[in-house]
Amino acid sequence: MSSIRPLAAGNWKMNGSKAALAEIAAIAAAAAAGETGGAQTLICPPATLIAAAVEVAAGRIAIGGQDCHAKASGAHTGDISAEQLRDAGATFVIVGHSERRADHGESDETVRLKAEAGLRAGLTAIVCVGETQAQREAGQTLAVVGGQISGSLPHGATTENLVVAYEPVWAIGTGLTPTAEDVAEVHAFIRHELVDLLPNVGAGVRILYGGSVKPGNAHELMGVANVNGALVGGASLTAKDFLGIASVYK
Ligand code: PEP
Repeated sequence: MSSIRPLAAGNWKMNGSKAALAEIAAIAAAAAAGETGGAQTLICPPATLIAAAVEVAAGRIAIGGQDCHAKASGAHTGDISAEQLRDAGATFVIVGHSERRADHGESDETVRLKAEAGLRAGLTAIVCVGETQAQREAGQTLAVVGGQISGSLPHGATTENLVVAYEPVWAIGTGLTPTAEDVAEVHAFIRHELVDLLPNVGAGVRILYGGSVKPGNAHELMGVANVNGALVGGASLTAKDFLGIASVYK
């Protein structure tokens, strides 16, 4: 939908130290100079850098967390609540990334509760879904993605506080991408599911594509119907590569 404002989002994962704040400064400066066009721009650095990143970004780009706990506070050593992310200045949180689903055994229910925590704290939740290679080869892509969508969507979603990211697990960090036709099929399916599950808002919720997005393939992937932006891992670590992607919206 052309009225949807695209989102160019970077997920730094467990990468980056204070020196990397210079990349955020460069991305923020470029966004302020119009190099990312009409797109909203977001970087999700590791939690250790969020507060400093918010200062460096100075409101010119958004800063988000990569995960949150479902509870607001309590005895959960090592975890971070959505309220704490918000307190640090974050405005987004990624939930249900496939690395968290796999490494930490997060179920759809867990992801839904985390997304709801994000909404409770006033954050926009980016809910990630996507099939494994084995699931794709078994013809289960739409069934898997459909199950994740229905199980992970938060109650209380609006077009402002919910973003869905389709990230085929086999495309993350591998240099492999689905064809534009495959992306179109899955994004059309996600749009259909969103409209079905969230009748008043589903048509306007942003659906990002993620998985080996690079400057060289961003134009094609971002031009696919129902692709309202990108969730970028490796190529978001440098301002040069990330802006090579976000600049498709110039
Ligand atoms: C991701 O981890 O969300 C991701 C899309 O990674 P990459 O761009 O490196 O494939």
